[in-house]
Amino acid sequence: MPTTKPLILSFVIYHLLSTVGLTVDPNGLLGLGFDGQLSVDAADVETVSLDFGRMTQVKPLAVLHPASADDIAGLVRTAYQSAQGFTVSARGHGHSINGQAHATDGVVIAMSSSTSKRNRISLQGNPAARPTLLLGDKPSCSYMDVWGGELWIDVLNSTLEYGLAPRSWTDYLYLSVGGTLSNAGISGQAFNHGPQITNVYELDVVTGKGEVVTCSNEHNSELFHAVLGGLGQFGIITRARIALEPAPQRVRWIRVLYSNFSAFTKDQEYLISLHGNPSTDRFDYVEGFVIVDEGLINNWRSSFFSPRNPVKISSLGAANGGVLYCLEVTKNYDESTADTVDQEVGALLKKLDFIPTTIFTTDIPYLDFLDRVHKAELKLRSKGLWDVPHPWLNLFVPKSRIADFDRGVFKGILGNKTSGPILIYPMNKNKWDHRSSVVTPDEDIFYLVGLLRSALDSGEETQTMEYLNNQNRQILRFCNEAGIKVKHYLPNHSTQEEWKAHFGEKWDLFVKRKMEFDPKRILATGQRIFQPAF
Ligand code: FAD
Repeated sequence: MPTTKPLILSFVIYHLLSTVGLTVDPNGLLGLGFDGQLSVDAADVETVSLDFGRMTQVKPLAVLHPASADDIAGLVRTAYQSAQGFTVSARGHGHSINGQAHATDGVVIAMSSSTSKRNRISLQGNPAARPTLLLGDKPSCSYMDVWGGELWIDVLNSTLEYGLAPRSWTDYLYLSVGGTLSNAGISGQAFNHGPQITNVYELDVVTGKGEVVTCSNEHNSELFHAVLGGLGQFGIITRARIALEPAPQRVRWIRVLYSNFSAFTKDQEYLISLHGNPSTDRFDYVEGFVIVDEGLINNWRSSFFSPRNPVKISSLGAANGGVLYCLEVTKNYDESTADTVDQEVGALLKKLDFIPTTIFTTDIPYLDFLDRVHKAELKLRSKGLWDVPHPWLNLFVPKSRIADFDRGVFKGILGNKTSGPILIYPMNKNKWDHRSSVVTPDEDIFYLVGLLRSALDSGEETQTMEYLNNQNRQILRFCNEAGIKVKHYLPNHSTQEEWKAHFGEKWDLFVKRKMEFDPKRILATGQRIFQPAF
């Protein structure tokens, strides 16, 4: 039975929609009773009108704080069935860059602010079981069921209580499960476990017709693969079943430096070739970043302990316009392996060709390692440097052209100012399921290059949004002219021609799936891939 409050809110929203000329079937929203809350409160609308990128603002007509998948299904069904229709976008934690979770003339579902805490996370399976999952194998390990709007930090805290943890991560944990699964979800574990979308067994999805469908590799597999990496186009993830492994207790975290790019990439590629080895014979995490100015390195050096002589960065080639590359690796361990961790790390480092005096090591609890970016967030927040525009550019670059990218971008276009970290690490394509919607370069190994920059009002031209956006365009132009076939990660395109080029061979399938699961094209219109059919 609908309660009075939702009815009043439905009434308000109906009038609001009418005033802007969008007449929704009064028997639709008006008659809907949400267990959660449908809000037209100005502060609520304002909150979801912005995202982490802070470069676009779109105010929706209303915000739904759902209490259940049924609330979401009811809303989407109404949008689908009403004569005039309206758009619906799920919003995870609003950490997109270009308004991907916005809904013009529509309703935003605030997934992470679900009003029900009931059953948001539930652990299933046998927590004592040792995981043995390989790509394509039947899961024989523990897993957990998670509400689609849950933040990964909360997922981690819940599973740690059982001594378990998900296997594949993002660098930052204040992102929602549905949001990262709609993209891919990558970090330094992806070379071994694949992206987060490779580590999901089952989903509940509300399709664009308002149907709640359970899907997996075995059942409704077309929807399952469409939704993973599907940019929110085919349905709203309300539940995800995530694979777990026994959680390590501690992490040995190591950074080493290179001035030679080919030595750096050769070593990164060697380390990711060890995927599938017993954990004693490989690192658990492989990432890296580019250092084009000294400021960045001095930021992190103090929190790392260098067992060798103190390093004079200027003597390594970074000072005079040179570029340094930092390889970042970790080894997980617990009480039972604490005695051998030094030996295992030593054996792996011995095979690498970094500058010998540049080994920086630290040792921290597993949770602190996974939650490391949040620490940086708090520091930036305290200086007012978090809620600023972020003209980020994330690209997948094929291995065969990464040296050209280095010459043209790191040693060329960027100059010696970056305005933020530049990540670079390779991944194995065979850990990505080709049936998912995500697109990657057509090579066995490809690199993530993430230019994660902040635009500031500092008076310096190189830090302005205009400068950084121009530089991003210059980088893309360079790739295009040099024939470097990059794919955007967390893509942002404005015309259908660009989207068609982005998806390449997958475009026809993407359109077919859209017509099947969201025929009125009402979902996630903030991605600007399809025009709604009303
Ligand atoms: P939103 O931005 O709210 O939504 C993103 C898209 O997914 C929208 O189109 C939305 O409609 C759709 N969506 C949201 N929820 C659902 C759902 N339940 N069902 C269906 N569609 C949904 N990414 C990585 O892979 N690795 C990283 O290491 C990483 N680090 C990051 C660090 C920071 C500081 C930030 C800001 C982002 C980072 N990201 C990283 C990017 C992140 O994965 C994306 O922003 C992603 O969209 C998740 O953010 P969100 O949960 O806030 O989703």
